[in-house]
Amino acid sequence: MYRPQVTDGGYHQLQLQTSDGYDFARLTWLTCSRCRIGLVAKIRVTDLWQRQGYGSRMMRRAMRGYETYTWVTTGQSPQGKQFFPALGETTGAAFTPSAPRCPHMKAVRGAGLGTPRTEPAPNDLTR
Ligand SMILES: [Zn+2]
Repeated sequence: MYRPQVTDGGYHQLQLQTSDGYDFARLTWLTCSRCRIGLVAKIRVTDLWQRQGYGSRMMRRAMRGYETYTWVTTGQSPQGKQFFPALGETTGAAFTPSAPRCPHMKAVRGAGLGTPRTEPAPNDLTR
């Protein structure tokens, strides 16, 4: 399930669900077209689903169409400190930690998200 941003500088969100609707992974990020920045705000994969590539699939989906942006993150958990450098090697993005929001991101009020739309299963994203 993808919820697009409603304003430039605002949030996007991706949720992965099992066929019975269990929400097992979620990625929240912001993009700004003026600064050409993508900021990963939060990435979470439930324990049983970790180490199966869902995190990197979500990230590749998030970066689709924004490959030339500078990609950064907020504070990184111990897992994130392993995840983002590894992802950086395959995507070429830096994922600089503890990055500040740009002024346009700061100016967006609330966490408004667009209408959710269902997307193909993550296995299809790599094609
Ligand atoms: Zn900006």
